[in-house]
Amino acid sequence: MKTSNSSRILQKKLLEWYDEEKREMPWRNDRNPYRILVSEFMLQQTQVKTVIPYFERWMKSFPTLQKLARARESTILKHWEGLGYYSRARNLKKTAQIILQDYSGKVPDSMEEILKLPGVGRYTAGAVLSIAFGHKVPVLDGNVKRVLSRLLLLKENAGTRKSENILWEAMENILPETGAGNFNQAFMELGATVCLPKNPLCLLCPLKQNCKAQKAGKQNLYPPQKQKTPSIKIEVSAAVILRRNNIYIQKRKVGGLMGGLWEFPGGKFESGESPEQCLHREINEELGVSLHIDEKLMVIKHSYTRFRVTLHVFLCRIRSGRVSPTQSDEWSWVKAKELDTYPFPAANVKIIKSLMNNES
Ligand code: SF4
Repeated sequence: MKTSNSSRILQKKLLEWYDEEKREMPWRNDRNPYRILVSEFMLQQTQVKTVIPYFERWMKSFPTLQKLARARESTILKHWEGLGYYSRARNLKKTAQIILQDYSGKVPDSMEEILKLPGVGRYTAGAVLSIAFGHKVPVLDGNVKRVLSRLLLLKENAGTRKSENILWEAMENILPETGAGNFNQAFMELGATVCLPKNPLCLLCPLKQNCKAQKAGKQNLYPPQKQKTPSIKIEVSAAVILRRNNIYIQKRKVGGLMGGLWEFPGGKFESGESPEQCLHREINEELGVSLHIDEKLMVIKHSYTRFRVTLHVFLCRIRSGRVSPTQSDEWSWVKAKELDTYPFPAANVKIIKSLMNNES
């Protein structure tokens, strides 16, 4: 793979395969740098099929970088609702504002400048520079890492600094002189559709002759994985508080986890607490009121990063006290039908959907 001749053969096979087999994606229709930038922000940590409807909706609302730079943060977060890792949405807005102010509205086309933008790391920079501008720059996402690790039979554990360095260098060595954007996308596509994490479809692979793992029959052992960190279980109670047909919601503080999103108040169980005891304590601490619990509405299971959350949701009214939130600078009493206009974290969206289904 290191000689230029074997690299050329690999490039040719991969590009011919990509030409035939690539999936349709809305950001592949042109090389507009803004569209590529948005798609790459969305694709960080998220699969293509999840991203497509978000991307299409985004482009209808923010068809240009100028529109995005001038949009309200709550509108942007609403468009991102359910995609997770919300700092990406905030960084994308900041990036659009910086490009508008400092680069006359044009996405910078040098590595040095593009890496200065918030939320743009080496992966996103490489994708934008190679796909939108045709620069000879590698891209290394999870799919590319897996394919390369198998092609090279790389013994280093996935995710170590040493393996990252080896993989970046390997990818640089096999990039073609022209058409790096297509080549990068072809590598990612191969990892996403053929060189799957479990049971790769080697018979269909254009690189099977070049692949050391396939020859050794060790595809499923590569890349070697570090021991997984165990998941953490959390029990949480949340209150849907009613007052004269309005529901209480509050905005999470900007700068914290999921900052800027709205939520129903509540929190984690403390040792030995029942869901109801937790709710009474949390609401008293958070809002300075005591509650009357009318009924338990639902139990929702939800996962994010390493956390497995069980969320107990109660319909409540205020028994005594005046609402004075301690953990939020902004709150509101809204009609059930208005909930849909605010951005919420995914677990809260499940609560809202369930409330709406019960209403209809
Ligand atoms: S031959 Fe199999 S393991 Fe090797 S790159 Fe292709 S799909 Fe992956």
